[in-house]
Amino acid sequence: MKVLIVGSGGREHALAWACARSERVREVLVAPGNAGTAAEARVRNVDIPITDIDALLQLARREAVALTIVGPEAPLVAGIVDAFQSAGLRCFGPGRLGARLEGSKAFAKVFLQRHGIPTAAFRRFTAGDYDGAWLRAQRAPIVVKASGLASGKGVIIAASAAEADTAVRAMFGGSFGAAGTEVVIEEFLAGEEVSFIVMADGEHVLPLAGSQDHKRLLDGDRGPNTGGMGAYSPAPVLTDALHARVMREIIAPTIAGLSAAGHPYTGFLYAGLMIGPDGAPKVLEFNCRLGDPEAQPLLARLRSDLTALCEAALTRRLDQVQADWDPRSALGVVLAVDGYPHAPRLGDPIEGLADAAQLPGKIFHAGTRRAGTRVLTSGGRVLCAVGLGSKVSDAQRQAYALAEPIRFPGLQCRHDIGHRAITRAGPALAHDDTAR
Ligand code: AMP
Repeated sequence: MKVLIVGSGGREHALAWACARSERVREVLVAPGNAGTAAEARVRNVDIPITDIDALLQLARREAVALTIVGPEAPLVAGIVDAFQSAGLRCFGPGRLGARLEGSKAFAKVFLQRHGIPTAAFRRFTAGDYDGAWLRAQRAPIVVKASGLASGKGVIIAASAAEADTAVRAMFGGSFGAAGTEVVIEEFLAGEEVSFIVMADGEHVLPLAGSQDHKRLLDGDRGPNTGGMGAYSPAPVLTDALHARVMREIIAPTIAGLSAAGHPYTGFLYAGLMIGPDGAPKVLEFNCRLGDPEAQPLLARLRSDLTALCEAALTRRLDQVQADWDPRSALGVVLAVDGYPHAPRLGDPIEGLADAAQLPGKIFHAGTRRAGTRVLTSGGRVLCAVGLGSKVSDAQRQAYALAEPIRFPGLQCRHDIGHRAITRAGPALAHDDTAR
């Protein structure tokens, strides 16, 4: 069979690599892909942007693609799955209505509230009904979010009510474009974040292995928020008891609630959770896709055939399949360009890829493009070096050794990815995904 992956980041390189490993797969097309997918065996890039749904549909028809997997949120929110389904094509991801869980934070918060799913207390406003006096009476820190898609940048954690008020007014003033016409203002939650990612088929849920990422730019979880500077799986914070609680209190009511509302959810569902000091999980956000960089270590551990899992989901048979995971830990370190995240410097040559290819582990590309024989930086996050090891510290060592030969001007990476997992007792105490 032929598979089409929509997207061009690290997550999509990992998806393409995982599908190309399947014995059932003859070829993987990636639209538009990056320099990493271009170099992968049995993978071919096709130069179509992720938002050109008509052209993607024509490509899938012309190439007789049997399965399409959509990586990023924009085409999902725009309705790519609905378009493919109407054309009789199999496409893994939620439809436009399901994708509102990510596309509109206001929708997601109201949905969570209606279904009694734990999340931070909130209010939503448009410029017309904004109550600045209420906001100024709130206790800081206060979290201000642009409701629409803002490429992970629309969240401001304000240290004072005045700062929050300024952020809200900037959003109404267009600082995040249309994403900021509605804002969500919510209570600040303290605790530890964990990514809980499942596959859903509208009715059943297949939880993926636990994972955790590092959002801040600098060592010690300091500096500005980014798309993610590294991630690892499993996540020791996710114990068996917590796993069961998240399934019961968050995932099951979400899938049931969407189904009851008449738009059953099929696809990857990512719940960003805050685990409070009392151990209770609350939803920070939903994404309607695999996390990036979580996808890279997760898919490095997946032993099952990803295409078979997606097909089981598309035929409502997820209750009849299991995901088989490598029992080792996987850890990915993101290598980013100078100036990331605010003013990324692009277009520089990347050296050392051939040397890294000789080492154990796997380098997934994100913001890279080929120019003749060279590979150039073309996005803020450039590569993700993934190592495996029986302990998370071994996986960390392998990942950093793999990143060692890579050079480009102003390369930024964190040196402590996995520190929380390493200081904990270790993966032996984590929820054991290999047991399922
Ligand atoms: P989001 O895109 O909603 O996940 O927000 C991005 C990041 O902002 C999250 O990963 C958290 O680190 C932080 N964040 C979002 N909402 C809250 C909250 N209510 N309390 C504390 N931190 C938050």
